[in-house]
Amino acid sequence: MRGSRSCGAQIFKSFLGVLRVVDRGFLVRKARDEFDELVKLASDLVKIPSVNPPGDMSDVAGYVMDFFNSIGINYEVIEPKKGVITVYAFIGDGAVDFLHMNGHVDVVPPGDPGKWRYGPFSGVVRDGFLYGRGASDMKGGVAVILKVIEILARYWENIPYRVGVSVVPDEETGSDLGTKYLINELGVHPKYVLIPEPSTIYRVEIGEKGIYHYNLRAEGYPAHASLSPHVGENAIMKLFKVIDEIYKLTDIVVEPPSDLAEIVDLSGEAVANKFGRESLRNLYKTLSCNVGVIKGGDKVNVVAPWAEAEMDMRIPPGMTLSQLKSLLSDILSKYAGVEITSEKGIDPSYTTPSSKLVHSIISSGKEVAGIDIKHHLVAGATDARHFRKVGSEAIIYGPGDPSNIHSYNENISVEDLKSSLLVYVDAVYNVLAH
Ligand SMILES: [Zn+2]
Repeated sequence: MRGSRSCGAQIFKSFLGVLRVVDRGFLVRKARDEFDELVKLASDLVKIPSVNPPGDMSDVAGYVMDFFNSIGINYEVIEPKKGVITVYAFIGDGAVDFLHMNGHVDVVPPGDPGKWRYGPFSGVVRDGFLYGRGASDMKGGVAVILKVIEILARYWENIPYRVGVSVVPDEETGSDLGTKYLINELGVHPKYVLIPEPSTIYRVEIGEKGIYHYNLRAEGYPAHASLSPHVGENAIMKLFKVIDEIYKLTDIVVEPPSDLAEIVDLSGEAVANKFGRESLRNLYKTLSCNVGVIKGGDKVNVVAPWAEAEMDMRIPPGMTLSQLKSLLSDILSKYAGVEITSEKGIDPSYTTPSSKLVHSIISSGKEVAGIDIKHHLVAGATDARHFRKVGSEAIIYGPGDPSNIHSYNENISVEDLKSSLLVYVDAVYNVLAH
């Protein structure tokens, strides 16, 4: 189901009064006036449980619709499955989004509520921090982009390009009915995309490793255990050998694309320092590999006639998914009766550091918030990859502390929330105005 509700700009003008011609400093000053409202908005969002699974976003999406109604901007409601709701608002000139901001409001389950200092959905603000499930991941960031579009709508009369904001569900369970639906079914293919996942305010994340998830199955031949290993063929042992060989692929060092070389090194150094493991220095130049699930065999006294494994590999920039697949098929070709039975993968992706969007975030950090923002890559997957796949220059930049997400007492620094609003407003203005 796809609904559409809208409020015309003329209604909006009638209660906000005369709109102003803006300059860079003006919008940032207006953003400072919104600090208290920003914190309240983030707190309100945290107070609305939107746990996924089960993933029903009705309440939080209703709040977001009320917000867009209150500022009088156009939005669409997309609900491909009951309760799995995207709210997509847009302003400015043009038929398609030039710049798009995207954030998810589904949150992972809070676990034992008794382990939370203030309760998982308290939205309490204490000693400079906002507490609750989703504070960092990523209702704080969503509050920021909602305030950005509000400030643009209120104070910039003739925005030269279309600017969109999508508040999406389903990120914590794969994005098929959230961001991916918006891109693939609604054709939202913006030039620039900003996602305020918690990178910390000191990092702009411009790229991520690719992923290959696949299942391996080995066939063997049963026999009485007392005759093993002389008779029968043990599928578990065969699968072990295959997996062992696959793990050795993590020794390959991949040459990164030249515009990423320095950032690959810096990101590797940061993660090596964080974990105190020198071997992580090459994290962004190498494959990662994990066998997460393994099963096989029928009974202890029977030579195992079958075995299965679920594999997760991450692909560094400089290698493609199809190159990885051909490395794997070279290995599998040596073992009769072992095959990949199901698979899902995506190439590594990045936005070039010379992108205007990346430049703008870094220069705005310096200018309006006094922070030195560094380029980074991430090893995990974000919704940015779906936008990059359709040609968008997409980056992750957002407040929050990645070390406490999905944990008890998740929180976000109020100062970081405020700084990121200033950086967003200034950077978005620069991208649109120049
Ligand atoms: Zn997130």
